[in-house]
Amino acid sequence: MPIRKRKFDSLIIGAGGGGLRAALQLSRADAQVAVVSKVFPTRSHTVAAQGGVNAALANVSEDNWHWHMFDTIKGSDYLGDQDAIEYMCRAASRIVYELEHTGVPFSRLDNGRIYQRAFGGQSKHFGGEQATRTCAAADRTGHAILHSLYQQNIRAKTHFFDEYFAIDLIKDDAGYVLGALVMEIETGEPMLIEAKTTLLATGGAGQLYRTTTNALINTGDGMAMALRAGVPLQDMEFFQFHPTGIAGKGMLITEGVRGEGGYLINRDGERFMERYAPHAKDLASRDVVSRAIYIEIREGRGCGPDRDHVLLKVDHLGPEVIKKRLPGIRDLCLTFLHSDPIEKPIPVYPTAHYTMGGIPTNRYAQVVTPARHGPEEVVPGLYAAGECACVSVHGANRLGGNSLLDILVFGRAAANHIIDYLNESRYHRGLPDAGVQQAMARLERWDKKGDGETVDSVRAELTRVMEQHCGVFREQTMLDEGVKKVQELASRMQEVRLTDHSRIFNTARVEALELENLMDIALATVCSASARTESRGAHSRVDYPDRDDEHWLKHSLYFNDCSLDYKPVRMKPLTVDSFPPKARVY
Ligand SMILES: Cc1cc2nc3c(=O)[nH]c(=O)nc-3n(C[C@H](O)[C@H](O)[C@H](O)COP(=O)(O)OP(=O)(O)OC[C@H]3O[C@@H](n4cnc5c(N)ncnc54)[C@H](O)[C@@H]3O)c2cc1C
Repeated sequence: MPIRKRKFDSLIIGAGGGGLRAALQLSRADAQVAVVSKVFPTRSHTVAAQGGVNAALANVSEDNWHWHMFDTIKGSDYLGDQDAIEYMCRAASRIVYELEHTGVPFSRLDNGRIYQRAFGGQSKHFGGEQATRTCAAADRTGHAILHSLYQQNIRAKTHFFDEYFAIDLIKDDAGYVLGALVMEIETGEPMLIEAKTTLLATGGAGQLYRTTTNALINTGDGMAMALRAGVPLQDMEFFQFHPTGIAGKGMLITEGVRGEGGYLINRDGERFMERYAPHAKDLASRDVVSRAIYIEIREGRGCGPDRDHVLLKVDHLGPEVIKKRLPGIRDLCLTFLHSDPIEKPIPVYPTAHYTMGGIPTNRYAQVVTPARHGPEEVVPGLYAAGECACVSVHGANRLGGNSLLDILVFGRAAANHIIDYLNESRYHRGLPDAGVQQAMARLERWDKKGDGETVDSVRAELTRVMEQHCGVFREQTMLDEGVKKVQELASRMQEVRLTDHSRIFNTARVEALELENLMDIALATVCSASARTESRGAHSRVDYPDRDDEHWLKHSLYFNDCSLDYKPVRMKPLTVDSFPPKARVY
């Protein structure tokens, strides 16, 4: 039977904040846009973002974009590309005002201006006093943004394919990406979407780890699709662990809690961050706070009968602040801990949170592949934005509040560039048979159930291996064993059996396809980590505790054949002087 086919100007895979920001702009420019999402758009992970989005609006205290730029570069441990960071920080205020006009109900100050809270790693005057830069809609900022963008897209007549799973990109011999093969999850029917441009906006891969703040759907599908299409993945060794997940469960307690004045204590009731970051204390960068918690616990100062977590104290803020500014956090504690933060501190432990690495792009969100030992080349027709991309504005460690900003700024940048591209490309090039058959083979492989181990059991083992071998602290033997274990698990994929859901067979196929994607991303992460023999940002090596700018001030690139290459960090901003690497203290 011939495969169903649809044609659009532009295909967007992913309906989170990144995909929807781009879609809105394209639809408003009268392009025919298809948005494919494996879940209903407003269930994308952006909906879970709590704390807020950074912009130097200076509504609460003095601020400017140049300080924001410095903080982002320092937070990235100097691995972020300074041109992209300047571009993002300069665009931030405009992006927030646009959101306000799109309908996002930001919290307000008494004078009516947008409320802003303090977040980690923010400073005034290039490393001076704490800044107050994160614009928030209580502690449900992502929810407000995603719903507003979705509603505006409906109004602009964006075409949505809800609950369709993208399987693979279709590329022709000349290297053009011409759309993708997708599957309608309800019926299992494949469909080809032909498009002049394809934007990957598929989010992160937090499901690599057992304890994570990420939704079940965050399986790095877009990154794996790019990898299979011959694009290397950049900086995959840098995975962020958020210091404050609910202990033993992983749900996120936003940094906004510390921004509002909450702080961490150990079993002696000591505010231990004063020792690790005397200046910024609890609002030091996330990598710094996560490591401090680990050390407190390792040295026996953890709380609870097993001394396996620390406490986040908030009761001193008073019921009024908690109810007004942190209502979602209070709900989370009441539901999952059966305790009220107004009365009792919250038990917390670091948890997997954010994929700093991803698909390499330039600041127009075009995907670039560095030809080995040659100049970078753009992949024609392919774009990436949001958490799946690595532009790179977060380098080795992302600052809180900068991801919502990243997805919106580069979702917009992608749309701007796509509009120009569409103006120049009047015709579709036609889908190549070979590419279509290859993608179909990936889907058909899961038509049978198999009789080996189940998808669920292999996925559970993978996340355990990643937690044990590629967590907050790393070391060579541990990483090398991790590489072997992931390779061994990947080889077992051949025999894997679909987890038995007799009545919902297509979702079982989706789970298998997701696991294949996760496996590729796990290998990229652990291989890149094993090769980098220094500590930088979130990549913390006990055997190489120092940052080594002489040898390692460079981005890693992981290719699908398990090999690695490197490319320089772009140290030159667009208009201002560059910030040379300095020791990073908070
Ligand atoms: C709990 C939590 C709280 C956070 N809080 C903040 C915060 O306060 N501030 C901040 O700046 N950042 C925060 N972050 C990070 C930020 O929310 C995310 O990085 C960002 O929202 C990612 O947006 P995105 O558009 O890239 O992808 P997502 O919102 O993750 O959306 C991905 C989309 O891709 C689709 N998709 C994926 N694979 C496929 C496939 N194979 N086929 C079809 N569709 C597919 C999904 O259906 C979904 O629509 C938080 C993250 C978490 C997990």
